Amino acid sequence: MKVLVTGGAGFIGSAVVRYLIEHTDARVMNLDKLTYAGNPASVEPVAGSSRYGFEQIDICDRAAVDGLLQAFRPDAVMHLAAESHVDRSIDGPDDFVQTNLVGTYQLLEAARSYWKSLARPETFRFLHVSTDEVYGDLGDTGALFQESTPYAPSSPYAATKAGSDHLVRAWGRTYGLPVLVSNCSNNYGPYQFPEKLIPHMILNALAGKPLPVYGDGSQIRDWLFVDDHARALWTVLTRGRVGQTYNIGGHNEKRNIDVVRAICAALTAAQAEQGKQQTFDHLITFVTDRPGHDTRYAIDASKMQRELGWKPEETFESGLNKTVRWYLDNPTWWQQVLDGSYRLERRGRAEAAR
Ligand code: NAD
Repeated sequence: MKVLVTGGAGFIGSAVVRYLIEHTDARVMNLDKLTYAGNPASVEPVAGSSRYGFEQIDICDRAAVDGLLQAFRPDAVMHLAAESHVDRSIDGPDDFVQTNLVGTYQLLEAARSYWKSLARPETFRFLHVSTDEVYGDLGDTGALFQESTPYAPSSPYAATKAGSDHLVRAWGRTYGLPVLVSNCSNNYGPYQFPEKLIPHMILNALAGKPLPVYGDGSQIRDWLFVDDHARALWTVLTRGRVGQTYNIGGHNEKRNIDVVRAICAALTAAQAEQGKQQTFDHLITFVTDRPGHDTRYAIDASKMQRELGWKPEETFESGLNKTVRWYLDNPTWWQQVLDGSYRLERRGRAEAAR
C-alpha cells in the first residue's frame, strides 16, 4: 500500500510516518510545507528507509500536489497538515483559514481528480484527521462528544477545522470520494513542538522558569498518547467504513492544573533516579485566561472499540512518564527547535545542493 501523509513533519504526522514505516509494510510519501511546526528531525528514525520519501510542498499549491499524486500514485491520503495552535489562531487567523480551509479544499480537488483517473477508484481512501475542538464546549454537563454531536467551534482554529471537516464530508457525499473523518482529543508525547501545554511545561520546569496556567487551571481536556493516535488512524484507514466519522480519545479527562502537577511529579521522580533532589510545583503561576477558552472536552471513543477493536494502550501516567523521559533524553531535538537552528542546517544543506 502507498500512503501520502500530509503534515508528516509535524507532531502527530511524524508519529504516523514512524508508525507506518516501523509497524506496516506501507510505502510512505511525506508532503509537508515545513512551517515553523514542521521538523525533519522528527522523522529521522525512519528517514533512511527505502519505503520513505519526502517532498516540501504547500497543500495550497494545487499544481505541486497534482504532480506529486501523479508521480507517487498513492492508494490513500492521510491528511494531517494544518495550522494547529489555538493561541496562534487567536493572534493571527489568516494562516489557519489558508491552510486548514483553502488548503484542504485544494487537496480534496487534487485528490478527486487523481481518484477519478484510477483503474479501481473504489479502493482509494482519503482520511481527514481532525480534532474534538470542532464540537465546542461541554461545560459541566457530564456529557461526552459523540460522532453525532453538533459542531459548535469556539476558536478560529476550531472553526477552520470544522469547516474542513464539512468540506471533506461534502466531497464524499457529492462526488463519491471515499472519505473518512476522525476527531481526536488532545495528544501528547515525544516530538511535540514546545509551544503546546505538556512540552512547554516540561521545558520551562527544567529551565527553572514559571509554569503559566490559564485562569484557575480548571479546564478539562481528554489526553491521548500520540502513538495510540497513530495506531488508531491506521486502523480507521484500513478498516473504517467509507463516509463514517470516528471519535478517538484516551478516556483520560484531566484538569489542566492536574496535568501540570503530574508533570512536576514525573520530573521530580525522574531527577531522583539521577540522584538529584528537585521539586517544581513552586514554579506554577496562574495567568489571564485565553479568550473564549472552552471549559471541558471529553470524547466517547466507544465506536472505535466496538466497530474497529481499537483502544488506547497507554494510561495517562505511563504515557506522561514516557514523554517526560523522552524530553530529558533528547535535548538536542528540542534545543534545535527552540533556537530554530534545524532550519539553518536545512537551508545550508539546500544551498550546498544547488
Ligand atoms: P503540528 O502543528 O505539529 O504539525 C502540522 C504540520 O503541518 C507541520 O509539519 C507543518 O509544517 C505542516 N503544514 C502546515 N501548513 C501546511 C501547508 N499549507 N502545507 C503542507 N504542510 C503544512 O500539528 P499536529 O499537532 O501534529 O496536528 C496534526 C493534525 O492533527 C492537525 O490537522 C490537527 O488539527 C489534528 N489534531 C491535533 C491534535 C493535537 O492534540 N495536537 C488533536 C487532534 C487533532
